[in-house]
Amino acid sequence: MNNANEPSRRALLDAAAIESLVDTAPVRDKALGVFPPWHKRGHVLPAEDPSMLYSRELTCPACGSAYRCTMPRESKLVKTGEDSDLRQRYKGVEPIYHAVPVCPDCLFAAPLAYHQKPLKHRDELAGTLAHYRPLVSVKADRDADDVFTSYYLALKCSAFYPDREMLDGWLWQRLSRVYDDCGDLNMSLFALRKAYKAYQTGFSVSELSSAQLQRTAYAIGDMAARLGEYDKARRFLFETKKIRDGAAAIRDMADQRLEYVNSKL
Ligand SMILES: [Zn+2]
Repeated sequence: MNNANEPSRRALLDAAAIESLVDTAPVRDKALGVFPPWHKRGHVLPAEDPSMLYSRELTCPACGSAYRCTMPRESKLVKTGEDSDLRQRYKGVEPIYHAVPVCPDCLFAAPLAYHQKPLKHRDELAGTLAHYRPLVSVKADRDADDVFTSYYLALKCSAFYPDREMLDGWLWQRLSRVYDDCGDLNMSLFALRKAYKAYQTGFSVSELSSAQLQRTAYAIGDMAARLGEYDKARRFLFETKKIRDGAAAIRDMADQRLEYVNSKL
């Protein structure tokens, strides 16, 4: 298991400053498209092995169009490790770059599991996405900007699902990892803080199974540790260990993270 990269105090302060600026940002510049201010275009992601990917047809749950997107071949995935935030590493491919398909017709975007879930207020969703039509183009063969676009569009669509907080937490956590892969530490921390907030709300208001509760408690504890909030990290890591029917492997990881957190107190 890799240890968490410990961000410097300066980087944590910068991320907090970006967050407050984003939250109070004026009406968006057209050139920003779907991105928040301070998102830099033109990042480069690590190369993938094209033989690990295939083209799959999906039906858009928002507009009904059929379209093709690129996905990893599950049968060929070879796991090479797991980070302390439960991120799984695979040989030759990074599934999170392909985890959010985007409909090229209406710009609906959501993880595959959400394509089967009921959507609220479809007309309003269509109106929200129409705003971004002139600003965003979608292509199946993704570069870093396309990957970021898919996540930011999904964050526009998440409000139309009942369990928005958990979906937002999931999307922001993966955005943080993509920024990390691009070497953009400030935006990685900004996204991590967003995931941290969304998961804390989701943890208290969503109906979660024991397994989801345990993984969410662990995720919050791990994020708190990365963000230097060690008291809260301890609280959620202890919570992870207490959850009935939880997985022994995650309890063990919580013990390892507690060791790290205790060394900081
Ligand atoms: Zn669509």
